[in-house]
Amino acid sequence: MAQGVLPVFQFDNSYARLPDRFFASVYPEPVDGPKLLKFNAALAAELGVEADLSDPTRLAATLAGNVVPQGAVPLAMAYAGHQFGNFVPQLGDGRAILLGEVVDSKGRRRDIQLKGAGPTPFSRRGDGRAALGPVLREYIVSEAFAALGLPATRALAAVATGEQVYRERVEQGAVFVRVAASHVRVGTFQFFAARGDNEGVRTLADYVIDRHYPELKTKENPYLALLDAVAARQAALIARWLGVGFIHGVMNTDNMTISGETIDFGPCAFLDEYDPMKVFSSIDQQGRYAYRNQPGIGQWNIARLSECLLPLLDADEDKAVDAANGVLKRFGETFQAEWVAIFRQKMGLFSSIDKDGDLIQALLGVLHEGQADFTLAFRRLADAAEGRDEAFLACFSAREKAVEWLASWRARLEAETQSGAERAAAMRAVNPAVIARNHRVEEAIAAANYGDLSFFERLMQALEKPYEERPEFADYMTPPKPEERVTRTFCGT
Ligand code: AMP
Ligand code: MG
Repeated sequence: MAQGVLPVFQFDNSYARLPDRFFASVYPEPVDGPKLLKFNAALAAELGVEADLSDPTRLAATLAGNVVPQGAVPLAMAYAGHQFGNFVPQLGDGRAILLGEVVDSKGRRRDIQLKGAGPTPFSRRGDGRAALGPVLREYIVSEAFAALGLPATRALAAVATGEQVYRERVEQGAVFVRVAASHVRVGTFQFFAARGDNEGVRTLADYVIDRHYPELKTKENPYLALLDAVAARQAALIARWLGVGFIHGVMNTDNMTISGETIDFGPCAFLDEYDPMKVFSSIDQQGRYAYRNQPGIGQWNIARLSECLLPLLDADEDKAVDAANGVLKRFGETFQAEWVAIFRQKMGLFSSIDKDGDLIQALLGVLHEGQADFTLAFRRLADAAEGRDEAFLACFSAREKAVEWLASWRARLEAETQSGAERAAAMRAVNPAVIARNHRVEEAIAAANYGDLSFFERLMQALEKPYEERPEFADYMTPPKPEERVTRTFCGT
């Protein structure tokens, strides 16, 4: 086979131009046998990346870090973070290397990062590597988010390294190629604040305003506006997670972006049956990051960010604290407003009245008690909007309460003029039929561990059009059978 050209990136690396203490320059450590597992050609096109798919070997060599493409300035970012509530003053990219930034076809600057590309000065005791399972999980869930229309980092590629990594057991190594609006986190601010480096905090704040919130530059107090904007994006994001039954799993401050994208799909999962206290992550013994706790944790993380920004908010410390408290209060209000708006849509409401919150809570109570599948029940509620209740009611272990709730819902619908068909169509556009169900993700990973990527490929196809019920993917719409249930998702980092 004739050798194709290496992938070409039009890099322009703004983070690398920040002061030295923001990162460590480090090259990826080459791997033995890079093999392309999956390449996101559509995303590559959006990023203006020229890649020769007819030569996957050369493509894999670059995406695994064996060949550093021209124009890249590889680096590991410095950051700190609260992990499960405990502050760690230095974390940093211990196994991720930022190759550089490109400006996409819509003019947005995007990071291209290799996760699992080898040790960095921030690796501590880690090996700098990633295992195949977690890489595929991150690939699957990031692209599922994109198809659902939720903000998240994206997957450009997954590459096997041909090497082993040692976790709870021996696993195959892999590199995940991640694309992000940026990798700046709450923890990045904490890194400088913890060192009393106010100049660093200011430089970083100016950087993220430029990159993510340029409209704030002309505000009277751009730093307060920044804090408010990050809080609003995170509040809206978490409301959207709850709307699709998503549990992030590790909402540490180092896993919360400033851009408002979901990042770090580790031990994350979507709910099957509705349970507000559901936890998947095996490392979350206390249920800190349970489904229902996510908005409160989001606010807690924003409080940590506000502590970092205090010196920039006001020269008078009391006034700065007051301003930050205002932001935290608005976080709660924004979350609540977004949450109600999302669940109103999920219930097919076109108008809004004060009591809608109660109607939502009542439905969630009935779902919980009836052990109903969250995704399927909302999807089948659209059928009920057209007068067919059976499939909805079949989601519940006992129907009585669901029947009662349907009556209260119908009474509420009388205030509206839309036809059943109109309502059902609107509901199907917001209530997915297909989500990345945990047992399907696990199935895809288990097969891939035996060298069979067909389950992964088919799952990716099923997730492409989550709001459509395609008969060929009917088996991806149903909840797990008892023997298929996955109760814990291991971090597997
Ligand atoms: P994560 O759980 O992926 O959010 O990572 C938390 C912190 O641990 C980050 O600083 C990572 O860079 C670091 N880390 C996780 N896994 C590894 C690894 N295998 N080698 C080195 N550092 C790691
Ligand atoms: Mg992380």
